[in-house]
Amino acid sequence: MEILRSPREIALMRKAGLLVWEAHQLAESMVKPGVTTGEIDAAVEEFYQKKNAEPLFKGVPGHVPFPAVTCMSVNEEVVHGIPGKRKLVEGDVLSIDTGCRLNGWCGDAAVTHPVGIVSPELKKLLEVTRGVLDLAIELMHEKILWSEVATEMATYVGDNGMSVVEAFVGHGIGREMHEDPQVPNFVNKQFRRNNDFRLMPGLVIAIEPMVNLGTKRVRTQSDHWTQATIDGKPSAHFEHTVAMTKGGPQVLTGPPLEGELEN
Ligand code: MG
Repeated sequence: MEILRSPREIALMRKAGLLVWEAHQLAESMVKPGVTTGEIDAAVEEFYQKKNAEPLFKGVPGHVPFPAVTCMSVNEEVVHGIPGKRKLVEGDVLSIDTGCRLNGWCGDAAVTHPVGIVSPELKKLLEVTRGVLDLAIELMHEKILWSEVATEMATYVGDNGMSVVEAFVGHGIGREMHEDPQVPNFVNKQFRRNNDFRLMPGLVIAIEPMVNLGTKRVRTQSDHWTQATIDGKPSAHFEHTVAMTKGGPQVLTGPPLEGELEN
């Protein structure tokens, strides 16, 4: 069962989310041809250190513990790519995912960036993936159940001739990065029957659609972490941590409102 958070707890999560947003601004400023994914990761790690924030990705258990504070997934890589010596090339798309814990509360967000000028096809992939995340947040104003939102997300992506990754889903988030409920970007019978949830005030979830230009199918690479499309076609990933409040959804990893950065 999901845990509902008080307005005070959501305000604390916003502070963590704002830091994640700032980390993404720093990362984005470095995205250009010739830069390595490892250099961007190192800058984000230093930023978290300076802010006394605990990076959430480093050390996540697996066949080998995840070695970095960001996931960097290039082109056909969908999620969980490991930053390293790879140099970005004009025309690439780079998905950056990162999260931190500040004063005991977590934030998690992802963005896919074009590297220099990208093809019209890739530009559309980024627009559709960002678009489906925005659509989901907007629909939280009016829908009762997550399944209603997820159904429209899958339709939106399908109508654009692309596919939603089903192997990975979003998640509840709070004291830990991954909490109940699971937050899929599509719906099946099993989810409707057993895992659907209501969009109640106090719910805090990380919504993270992954969209592929080709097949939805992905495969783990030999580094035991990176997930890539099996047809080698590109993929994009956008994520926000979002709280339901009495006034509607609040994006906790979004840009600062007036005065927020000074506090
Ligand atoms: Mg996440």
